[in-house]
Amino acid sequence: MKENICTIPINDVFRETDGCPICRMYESVQAQYVEYITGSAMMAPNIRVITNEKGFCHKHYEMMMKTGPKLSNALLMQTRLDYVKEHMVPKNLSAKPSKGQLDNIHKARHSCYVCDRIDADIKHLLSTVFVQFGVDEEFRELFKKQDYLCLNHYELLHRAAAQKGGIKNKDMKAFCEITNALCRNYLDSLYDDVTHFTTMFDYRNAGGDFKNSKDATERSIRFLTSEKVETKE
Ligand SMILES: [Zn+2]
Ligand SMILES: [Zn+2]
Repeated sequence: MKENICTIPINDVFRETDGCPICRMYESVQAQYVEYITGSAMMAPNIRVITNEKGFCHKHYEMMMKTGPKLSNALLMQTRLDYVKEHMVPKNLSAKPSKGQLDNIHKARHSCYVCDRIDADIKHLLSTVFVQFGVDEEFRELFKKQDYLCLNHYELLHRAAAQKGGIKNKDMKAFCEITNALCRNYLDSLYDDVTHFTTMFDYRNAGGDFKNSKDATERSIRFLTSEKVETKE
């Protein structure tokens, strides 16, 4: 596997219109890394050195457990635990843990090999998005037709757009118009839908039409956190 997977053609991502395009991009890269880490990367010593040190976040451990071979997960865990034994907890049971050991435990809570690789790849993919936006009118139209941009990816896009390799000055206004509309219009519609949903619990509206509001709270969570939520029926 190369430095960046980057096997995702940007145009294909933007040809779909369901949900946030950067969420789709993220999920696609994520699925590839989870498969990679419990598959071919398992036997790559240079990768194992990094995964032993970084470990994985709960979300990605969970995905690895759901999709990866049991033995791969156990072997990854064995050497990760070995690293934890070495760097986080004193061997001498009467010793006070060092600041370094406590810092390592603290760091481990926010450390994930898969998250880091996804972030790096997304950054790379975004630079392609910015190039396309500047040169390809058809791509710009595809961008405009997206369902919405979730809040986190609205931020990510704008921070990256303002940096070197971001959106060219001449395209910034058009970029703002499109991205603001995708985020703001959806936010407004969520607000209206959630509001409509709450009014349906007023006895005066008994038997009324929920319209598009039945999953408005779930869709709002997705907009705010980039993650789907499972709810009770
Ligand atoms: Zn998103
Ligand atoms: Zn992670």
